Amino acid sequence: MKTLITNGTIVTAADTVQADLLIDGERVALIGPDLADRVQADRTVDATGKYLLPGGIDVHTHLDLPFGGTVASDDFYTGHVGAAFGGTTSHVDFAIQGKGESLHQAIMNWHERADGKAVLDYGFHVAITDLNDQVMEEIGRLHEYGVSSIKLFLAYKGLFQVDDTTLFRAFLKASESGVITMIHAENGDVIDILVKKAIAEGHFEPVWHALTRPPQAEAEATNRAVQLAGIAGAPVYIVHLTQRDALAAVARAKAAGQMAYAETCPQYLFFTVDDLARPDFEGAKWVCSPPMRSREDNEALWGGLASGALDAVATDHCPFFFKGQKELGRERFDKIPNGLPVIEDRLPVLYQAGVQEGRFSLNRFVELTSTNPAKLFGMYPRKGTILPGSDADMVIWDPNRSHVRSAATHHMNVDYNLWEGMEIQATPVQVFSRGRLLVDGGQFLGQEGSGRFLERGTPQVG
Ligand SMILES: [Zn+2]
Repeated sequence: MKTLITNGTIVTAADTVQADLLIDGERVALIGPDLADRVQADRTVDATGKYLLPGGIDVHTHLDLPFGGTVASDDFYTGHVGAAFGGTTSHVDFAIQGKGESLHQAIMNWHERADGKAVLDYGFHVAITDLNDQVMEEIGRLHEYGVSSIKLFLAYKGLFQVDDTTLFRAFLKASESGVITMIHAENGDVIDILVKKAIAEGHFEPVWHALTRPPQAEAEATNRAVQLAGIAGAPVYIVHLTQRDALAAVARAKAAGQMAYAETCPQYLFFTVDDLARPDFEGAKWVCSPPMRSREDNEALWGGLASGALDAVATDHCPFFFKGQKELGRERFDKIPNGLPVIEDRLPVLYQAGVQEGRFSLNRFVELTSTNPAKLFGMYPRKGTILPGSDADMVIWDPNRSHVRSAATHHMNVDYNLWEGMEIQATPVQVFSRGRLLVDGGQFLGQEGSGRFLERGTPQVG
């Protein structure tokens, strides 16, 4: 199957060029002027006045995740449908190691969740919760499983949290193994005490989720992780960075030449602790960890995206219905399932506030949402750009067709949308994954089970 896309404006992290593009099978075959005169195609798409962007890559998702006595409401099918409508064509989810399990077992468990359901291409990071000597040795063999990144938690005491000895040993091992270490950076010891204290004092409302996870607990843990990674000479990637002092810690390490990277997520650019204080338990819709911060922090993060202090925008997508799931915490904030629906909204809301409102260029938008994630997690240049030979993962983005974000029209399996009513002055109108047209206007054409596991290579760092 050959698809010719004519007259589009191809936008990568580095270039903006007007050209025709030929997809042959699953890959980009040719880019050039006037291809219509030279090649025969089975299907021609006129992209006049539209952008061709590399498909979005979301390197932080939790589909079908068991959490707090319930399960995230998007599985590998519904999550992929939502992602595709939002212009995302690949993602990397977290295979979470159970106590006593091998990393291989953890990865196999997550393969089972995705097999037969996936529409997009997907990879796995492995989240390590039980780091004994055998598991340490297994980090050296992760590449055999197509995995090149691990995640450690400095929060969730008694559940996922690791101590500094474990953290530092893991940095050393990951570094020598060509694996990048991702860190959830909040001080779990401090949070554990603050949560218990708040409950004992009778504070049960959603806003206490934020008040018991103070910004300093994130700044401290971020700085600690970055400094220890520096001593180990290990690349480190801070997930869901939310606030200015944590950002400064990463920026300092970068300036000193360290392989220190960080992502933020759209929710931390738009919302604040005030959203958790909304009446009638509505604040529960914004409960995730780390929590929403302040307007000053929102602005600091926008600055970090523009300046290069931040490297990527992912989502931490982990949706729960307000009715029946978030409500598990009606009596106590610490029983609210942590997580937000974002996978479908990421590109539209970031485009609107980032590109449309002049905070950064369209090339930078592509870099933050696709190219850098592909490089840092070993997928580039197969994914994350538009080049002859790359997978034909592409979004035709119409900058002149506006739409409104809403739970009434989104495709994620969840009963609310954080950006309800927000107008976006652009729309992803067609979405291709490995040459297959998944989204055509309002129609979904993808096939359940057609997504493939992405064997990832060594991260491009340094
Ligand atoms: Zn997460």
